[in-house]
Amino acid sequence: MLFKRDRRFWKRAPLQSEYDAIIIGGGVHGLSAAFFLARNHGMKNVAVLEKRYIGYGGSGRNTAIVRANQRAPETIPLYAEGLKLWPRLISELNVNLLFFNCGVLTLAHSEADLAELRLAAASGKFLGIESRILDSRSCRELAPALDISDRPRHPIVGGMFHPPGGTLRHDAVVWGLAKGASRRGVHIHQNTEVTGIDVQGGTVKSVETSRGPIRTPRVLVAAGAWSAEIAEMAGVALPVRMMTAPALVTQPLKPFLNHVVSAGAYPCYTNQTLKGEVVACGPMVFRPRASTQTDAEPLQRLSWALTELLPCLTGVKMMRAWAGPVDLTPDMAPVIDGHDSIQGFFLDCGWGDFGFKSGPVVGKYMAQFMAEGKKPKNLIPFSLNRFQEYRLLGEASTPHGYSPAE
Ligand SMILES: Cc1cc2nc3c(=O)[nH]c(=O)nc-3n(C[C@H](O)[C@H](O)[C@H](O)COP(=O)(O)OP(=O)(O)OC[C@H]3O[C@@H](n4cnc5c(N)ncnc54)[C@H](O)[C@@H]3O)c2cc1C
Repeated sequence: MLFKRDRRFWKRAPLQSEYDAIIIGGGVHGLSAAFFLARNHGMKNVAVLEKRYIGYGGSGRNTAIVRANQRAPETIPLYAEGLKLWPRLISELNVNLLFFNCGVLTLAHSEADLAELRLAAASGKFLGIESRILDSRSCRELAPALDISDRPRHPIVGGMFHPPGGTLRHDAVVWGLAKGASRRGVHIHQNTEVTGIDVQGGTVKSVETSRGPIRTPRVLVAAGAWSAEIAEMAGVALPVRMMTAPALVTQPLKPFLNHVVSAGAYPCYTNQTLKGEVVACGPMVFRPRASTQTDAEPLQRLSWALTELLPCLTGVKMMRAWAGPVDLTPDMAPVIDGHDSIQGFFLDCGWGDFGFKSGPVVGKYMAQFMAEGKKPKNLIPFSLNRFQEYRLLGEASTPHGYSPAE
């Protein structure tokens, strides 16, 4: 496939006093919704407002793992469609997103873990998603550097391999989507912070920003872990718990790890990039508000977990470390909804540490919802009022999941 050279990914545009739709947040979800509003629905008078820069939030800080081995039957089809969308986006956006279909190996450290994985594999199989259950020896055949002895704190008893999963390059994804949206007429405004939302008579009228007010009949809150504070501006409370997830990158090494490896008991997930660096994400820390602060203690725990799983990493240099904010809902499934009593107010948030992979596919359906005013059928389970109605989704034990009590 040939990639034409583009000088500038997105155009600078004047900030208008009115747009048909405003999207708050320049991450993978906001940019995807903007891209599909313009591409699929011809809505071009759309602005993405980003308080810092494109990819400042979770979308530029994640470990970019994509997979469809969820547990809840409501989420699996969405993620499965999402996985298939990436290769099409690469050619359509004309940006190399570095999609690496290496497969995801999720480890079990107890019989209970294994039972969870069996359930996830069975749910996936029922809906056409390939995953297979392995014993510990077969796990080591896939990843020979794994220590499957009794030495580690959490010995490996088996696992689940999910061949369709893999990784992408996260910043290429946000830049590519920004490029695709901008080419179709969407205005992308960085350094533009939303400070208020004006709702009158149950209808969205305008947003206040650091650069002045903007009139609009539609607002999408796609601000990742900041979504709760933005929803509050319209008087909407989101049931989320704020955490930060730490991540690190090692020095480049010879290729030794062919798949993503995820170990929920530590918790830790890791992969080796095409450049040879080992990327890993580890235990989350509770925060009262969205934060990008990096702490030493979780990084220390993450380094320890890595050497427990892959002892060959002992003594390897850590080159960079960072953290990203995540917002966890009680059932670890997102909120993708329009507000029942505020016309023109849409939400796409609560993605925890698993919202990167779903950005484009959810953006596609959210754009349909915003343009046509009717909620697509597959978004119905992700309503905000499920928490009041005790209709929680069964994602809490998802293979990559963390207990909110971690
Ligand atoms: C360390 C780490 C590892 C992860 N690993 C994975 C993974 O492997 N796979 C996966 O699928 N997911 C992963 N995730 C989760 C994933 O990154 C997020 O779920 C996803 O990026 C959320 O995207 P978003 O577009 O909704 O939000 P974000 O990318 O967070 O974007 C929100 C944007 O809103 C902006 N904003 C905030 N407030 C305002 C305001 N008032 N006005 C204007 N703009 C505002 C922010 O600056 C930000 O750029 C990980 C997350 C972290 C932190």
